[in-house]
Amino acid sequence: MVGFLGRRVQRMRRRGAIVPCLHCSRDLRMMGRGLCHNCYRDKDIRLQYPKLVDARTVIGFRQCTVVEDDERCLNEVKFPMFKYDGNGLCSKHYQRWFMYHDVLQNFKHPKNRKRGVKPCVVVEFGERCTELIHMGDLCVKHYMRNRKHGDPLFKKNLFGVPFDKRCELWFTLPNKYISVNDQGCWIWHGCKEKKGYGSAMVNDNELGIQPGRRPTHRISYAYHHGPFDQVFRVHHECNEKSCCNPEHLSLSTSAENTAAAVLLRREANDEKVIVLEKEIKKLNKEIAILKAA
Ligand SMILES: [Zn+2]
Ligand SMILES: [Zn+2]
Ligand SMILES: [Zn+2]
Ligand SMILES: [Zn+2]
Repeated sequence: MVGFLGRRVQRMRRRGAIVPCLHCSRDLRMMGRGLCHNCYRDKDIRLQYPKLVDARTVIGFRQCTVVEDDERCLNEVKFPMFKYDGNGLCSKHYQRWFMYHDVLQNFKHPKNRKRGVKPCVVVEFGERCTELIHMGDLCVKHYMRNRKHGDPLFKKNLFGVPFDKRCELWFTLPNKYISVNDQGCWIWHGCKEKKGYGSAMVNDNELGIQPGRRPTHRISYAYHHGPFDQVFRVHHECNEKSCCNPEHLSLSTSAENTAAAVLLRREANDEKVIVLEKEIKKLNKEIAILKAA
């Protein structure tokens, strides 16, 4: 019989922590209400005895201090648990306090155990999460997000976000992707191409743009003015490559675009030429003066 009850009960008996059962007066493992486990399991016997707030009278037995459901926990204080105020918790209640910061939180209770029965309650982008409940009302993913960041809808990046929602996040100001400068240009702060154009991921043929990494000014134009034929170039009227303000963008054929670029370059060159010619005139004058001397 002793072997069946286990070492813990043997130790408790040696210390005098086991009290005879109120009903059958046998020295068996205690369950509650001053009854042994045999009598406690019988509902008719159990209901004859009231709940006891303090069942232990033996000195030297440190009983757990938690009172749960009007009944004091009958377990022995297991470890020196200095972190808890009362410093008197059994291992069960200490574990609950350690995990949930609440000694009365019992997720194993059939009332609280919803795991694997219902889907998670979080609604993200108009669709309800289909994962099964892990803890409380949340699935593993949303529970961990809630625990880490305090918000089950927290998102670090745009992975898995639908494209129209992404566009909304990108092009509604103010946000962290775009800042506005003095000329009213929307400067893209995300990923950029080598040439300086902002680039972003298009997964499916959204807005008539082929999937892959695509320039953000094209996405911006298609998002604000509707899908366009991909033969056309999107021209920056503000000459700011990372700008994606739809008012600064216009459609043009590639020939027009290059012609505009050539004109711009020519104008810039002309200005440079004028400056250089002035310098040459100055130098010629100086040379003439030096030769005359
Ligand atoms: Zn009994
Ligand atoms: Zn306890
Ligand atoms: Zn979920
Ligand atoms: Zn601009």
